[in-house]
Amino acid sequence: MGKKPIKERLKIISAMLLQHKDLQGPLELKKKTLVIQKEIDSTPTKGLAINWDDKKSIEDLQKKALDRKLPIIYFLDPLKFDPDLLLIAFKKLVHVFVEQRINEEGLKRLLNHVESGKISLSKLIEAALGENITIIADAAKESDVKAELLLYLIGAITQPALEEIARKIDPQFPDKWWQGSCPVCGRIPAVAKNRYRKRFLVCTYCGTEYLSDNYLCVHCGNKDPYTLKYIEVEANPAFKIDFCTKCKHYIKKIEETKLKEPIPKGLEDILTLNLDFLAKDAGLARN
Ligand SMILES: [Zn+2]
Ligand SMILES: [Zn+2]
Repeated sequence: MGKKPIKERLKIISAMLLQHKDLQGPLELKKKTLVIQKEIDSTPTKGLAINWDDKKSIEDLQKKALDRKLPIIYFLDPLKFDPDLLLIAFKKLVHVFVEQRINEEGLKRLLNHVESGKISLSKLIEAALGENITIIADAAKESDVKAELLLYLIGAITQPALEEIARKIDPQFPDKWWQGSCPVCGRIPAVAKNRYRKRFLVCTYCGTEYLSDNYLCVHCGNKDPYTLKYIEVEANPAFKIDFCTKCKHYIKKIEETKLKEPIPKGLEDILTLNLDFLAKDAGLARN
């Protein structure tokens, strides 16, 4: 279960950087983010102070998630995220984006606010876990950065812990979920896989794969097969773009049996980036 270790993913991305001249920007950004995440991942806590060896703590989380029909992330104690370790990673990550000249001035302001304590990183983590978008949006506005970018940055530093939870969950747990959003982190998936005629949704954030209805738009919940269509990808029959004619959102679909070589877990999204360009040209929106 779960994604391949960061070290292995980094090797593959480095090799891809040499092959795919067209994807230099996103690959470079992904690589630099992974290098920072690897530092968090190599600590005993992975940024979250729970007892990783105690199976019971994960079982409790799974039970709460199934009983309340809410993802595991909702039941994590924000106080258990290590603020010192995550602050170091946060600063490094902001610098990566500043170097790429993405929202430069706003990000420098954000960093000043976080370093001076005007904006509390712990509060931002708590808000991101509980999907309290107002707190994120206010902090973003104060620094003049986009709320999505701030949410991405917070998500990136808590990601190693969530990936570890996804590795540790009981293999049966995700298949009892039956919702469109991820049972571990609550995000809406961007990738689906077809395997033995079953459809699995793949969370590209934490790496959880979970069983789904064959016909389901994860964005709007539409289950009507007549309004769920797909676009074939000429260059590669293993890939399709499934889309919903009601909300115009898409999900990238991988037919596992048609793949010439398997896609390493955790790299599904980045290895299908070309499908996002095709979908954008077709006027579709990403989940
Ligand atoms: Zn997830
Ligand atoms: Zn839809």
